[in-house]
Amino acid sequence: MLLRNRSRHFFDRKKNEDWQTNTMNIGSKYKASSVNGAAIRRLLAVLLSVVMIALKNGSLLAHENTLFSYTRSLRSDDADEGALHKVSVSDQFTDSSRCRLTLNLIDAATKESLPGLVRITTSEGHIVPLEGLFNRGTGLRQQHPSRDWYVLLKSNTVSVPRSRLKIEAFSGLETKLAKKTIDLTDKISARTILPLVRFHRAATSGWRNGNTHLHLMSLTKDQADQYLKSISQADGLELVFVSYLRRAKAERNYISNTYTKQQLQQLSGHGVMFSHGEEHRHNFGSGGEGYGHVMFLNIEKLIRPVSIGPGIMSKGTDWPALSRGIDKANLDGATTIWCHNTFGFEDVPDWIAGILDAHNIFDGGSRGSYEDTFYRFMDIGLRVPFSTGTDWFIYDFSRVYVEVEEPLTVERWLDGLEKGRTFITNGPLLKFSVGEYNPGDVVRLARPCELNISSRAVGRCDFQKIEVIYNGRVVQSAPSQPVGGHFEAWITTPLWINEPGWIALRISSEQKNEMGAKLFGHTSAVYVEIAGKTIFNPEVAKKLIANMNEAMSTIREKANFADDKQADEILNVYREGITSLNKRLKQQ
Ligand SMILES: [Zn+2]
Repeated sequence: MLLRNRSRHFFDRKKNEDWQTNTMNIGSKYKASSVNGAAIRRLLAVLLSVVMIALKNGSLLAHENTLFSYTRSLRSDDADEGALHKVSVSDQFTDSSRCRLTLNLIDAATKESLPGLVRITTSEGHIVPLEGLFNRGTGLRQQHPSRDWYVLLKSNTVSVPRSRLKIEAFSGLETKLAKKTIDLTDKISARTILPLVRFHRAATSGWRNGNTHLHLMSLTKDQADQYLKSISQADGLELVFVSYLRRAKAERNYISNTYTKQQLQQLSGHGVMFSHGEEHRHNFGSGGEGYGHVMFLNIEKLIRPVSIGPGIMSKGTDWPALSRGIDKANLDGATTIWCHNTFGFEDVPDWIAGILDAHNIFDGGSRGSYEDTFYRFMDIGLRVPFSTGTDWFIYDFSRVYVEVEEPLTVERWLDGLEKGRTFITNGPLLKFSVGEYNPGDVVRLARPCELNISSRAVGRCDFQKIEVIYNGRVVQSAPSQPVGGHFEAWITTPLWINEPGWIALRISSEQKNEMGAKLFGHTSAVYVEIAGKTIFNPEVAKKLIANMNEAMSTIREKANFADDKQADEILNVYREGITSLNKRLKQQ
């Protein structure tokens, strides 16, 4: 009963062209604006005033539970135009107090150019704005730490003060931080190369990373193109899913909605693949908790309605349930991922019904816990692949690594994600096995026995500690150690496996990465069956039943339905979940 229904994989994943025709055609005004800078500035002024008005009445930011974190971390009313479009550096080059500095980042081993991020600081500790380079914090608030960093894709010349400067650079998650101090006093021009040393190469062992949740707003199409291509390359992202979403009125600024499937494919190159998705959602009120948000990746056609209910769309009723859209997406061969930790009511019945493929955490903020997002489902025997992304703008390095065979394709990567061959991270890179079993695998034992745990984490920033988790308990841990400019931790010890359940590796750290985000890292689980038995924790099941009963009370209180039939259809989603768990409880 709790087994996942995989029958939908009999359906062909072949996609048709409906995506293009279904995409809202609001891109024409952006295309026209790319013709000249004055038009861009005029358009930006209009867009920014719309953003400001929307910010004041609170409607624009109320995308989801991320309201709070979005206000703190992402684009807000102090985001300026300066970060959004190229500034001419010609004036600065004629200034006698400035130096023309040509910068290049190379792979220390191969000597080839390597895209990355660069930050230049004066001896007084001031960040030097690098006009002409794309700002890594584009779209984010002025004080966001990412605003100090600039994208350098290949050798480029910038204008800097004629003084002593510190230059720092890195590429993605797999190189050390390179640092160099140069003295440009009395220099008109200079040239410097920063070799970046790799301490890890996940791709060579078959681990490829992706961001499953991304939207952009209030940029022109050209800026959005530049944003997607340059930041993905500098961050070492390999797959980026840009998803369509709807909200009455505010959607006029959702530039990411204007991309067709073909346009996203055309943006691909330089080691980055772009694909598409849809965020299907329901809130009570504009941003309050409702049925929840779910991502459909690699969809054949838009699942309608894209957004449900008057909270988001200012019309209609709070019907249908998300499960109806999830079923349709599954029939079309899409990958279905629950978003935003445990935000929304329907994650519980939908996981119990086996209609979801993976679960995102920290996509749109750092709040939430592994316990309420993943562990409680795994504690009743469900297999829940770990996944993540960033939601509005790429405000962090959050990504999911998937073990996948060559050649890398979107379909193969999503297949690996659905099988739980994953780890999530915004810094440390993880490797974990139980005996010869890897994340996503099921270890079937006849009786309790000892198996070797093999864990390893490496990272540029200090992730402090790794922990092996067995059915929610820390059973082994090891501190990180500095190793020549990066950090590593290992555990290679036998573990006594005496109960069915799940085992995974995570880091535990209070440190932050260069984007100012607290470090996280967690593998999907290796599942354990002993004598044919899977884990089923009755106390957790009872809490999930209580959770579904509470959800039904809230829905009865808040929802607007056209008739009893609509109400019944929504409430039945929860009733079926409760019945299913009650049956399991009786079997105990
Ligand atoms: Zn979203």
